[in-house]
Amino acid sequence: MTEPRVVPVRPDFSPEDIEGILGSIRTSLETGQLAQGEQVAAFEAEMSALTGARHAVALSTGTAALVCGLRALTTGRTGEVLVPANSFYSSAAAPLLAGLRTRLVDVEADTFAPSVRTLREVVTEDTVGVLLVHMGGLLTPELEEISAWCAERGLWLFEDCAHAHGSRLGGRHAGTFGAAGAFSFFATKVITSGEGGMLITDDGELAAAVRLHRNLGKPEAWRSYHTALGENARMSELHAAVGRAQLARLEEFLAVRERLARLYTEGLADLAGLTPVLPLHTPASWYKYVVLLDPAIDRAALRRELRAAGVQLGGEIYEMTLTAQPVFDGLVTTGGHPVADEVCARHICLPLHTRMSEDDIGFVLTALREALKAVGS
Ligand SMILES: *Cc1c(COP(=O)(O)O)cnc(C)c1O
Repeated sequence: MTEPRVVPVRPDFSPEDIEGILGSIRTSLETGQLAQGEQVAAFEAEMSALTGARHAVALSTGTAALVCGLRALTTGRTGEVLVPANSFYSSAAAPLLAGLRTRLVDVEADTFAPSVRTLREVVTEDTVGVLLVHMGGLLTPELEEISAWCAERGLWLFEDCAHAHGSRLGGRHAGTFGAAGAFSFFATKVITSGEGGMLITDDGELAAAVRLHRNLGKPEAWRSYHTALGENARMSELHAAVGRAQLARLEEFLAVRERLARLYTEGLADLAGLTPVLPLHTPASWYKYVVLLDPAIDRAALRRELRAAGVQLGGEIYEMTLTAQPVFDGLVTTGGHPVADEVCARHICLPLHTRMSEDDIGFVLTALREALKAVGS
C-alpha cells in the first residue's frame, strides 16, 4: 500500500531545535557530564514552572514515574488502587509493579474518566488511592470534586498525565489536583524526550522519596551508599536536552493543536454517525481528537477505507479495556465496566499533530465523509 498522505503522529523538531539540541549534546559529550547534571536539573525546574508544582523529578519513562511515585506514596504498605478500565497498560501495571493491587473501574462516555459517583460505589476498606488518567488530554469537570472526595476518605489521588501536557482546568495544570502527577515524554506524546518521564508534586517528602527510589536508593547522587531498595530510573542529560527543547515550544504546539482541532469540530458538525468527545476546559493538550462512532459503524472497515484514501488513523485510547489484556487475567479485579468496554470498542482518534496543515484537516474530513458512506452510515 502507498504511503499515507496524513499520518497520525509526528514529532516536531525545527532546524533551530535540532541545532540547539546538538549544541547541548555536544557540550555534554565534551564535558563528560552525561548524567545527573544541569540539563536534568533545568528540565525539572522548567516543568515545575510550567505546572506550578513545587517539585518535579525527572525519570527514565512515564511508567517509571508512575511506579516510583506509587512506591513513594505507599512505602511498605499494600492495598488497592482504583484505575480506569479504559487506560493504557502502564496505569494498571504500575500499582502491581509497586506491590499494590489494581481494581479497574468504569468511566463516563463523555469524559473517558470515572465519575465521583462510580468511585463512591466501588471504593472498599482496602482502597488506598485513585489513579486518574486524563485520556487524550481531557480533564474531567469532576476533577476537583474527585480530589476533595479522596481527601475526605483519606485516599491519595495520583494523576496519570501522559496525555495531558498543557491541559488545565480552572487555571490549574493537570497533575496538581492530588498528591502527584506523572508525565511521559515518549516519542508519540505531545512533547517528547525520546524516552522520559516526570513526576510533579507539592510534597517535598514525596519528591525526596521519588529521588531516592530513582537513584538506586542512594541519598547522595554519586556515592555508593544505599539506604532504600531503589531502582535505576534516572533520565540522562541527553534526553533532558531533547525534552527541554520540546518544552520550550509547548505553548506554540498547543495553539496549533487547538486551531486544527477546532477545524475538525466545525467540519464534523454536519456529519451523521459520529460524535466528537471534546474537552470542556481550556487549554487542552489535544493529545488525541477522539470521536465516538455510532454502534452500527464497523470501525475496522472504516479504518481500512480511510487508509485506502491516504489517511492513517492513530491508535485508539484504547482499542480494548485492560481486562481484555491477557497479562491482567487473574491479576486485577473489577466489578465490570460496561461503558469502558463500549467506548473502547466504538471510538477512533483522528490524526492530529503540529506538522499537519489546514489542508490536511480538510483532506481527512473529506476522506471521512466518503468512508462513512462506503461503510453504510
Ligand atoms: C504513554 C503512557 C504511559 C507510559 O509512558 P512511557 O513513557 O511510555 O513509559 C502511561 N500512561 C499512559 C496513559 C500513557 O499513554
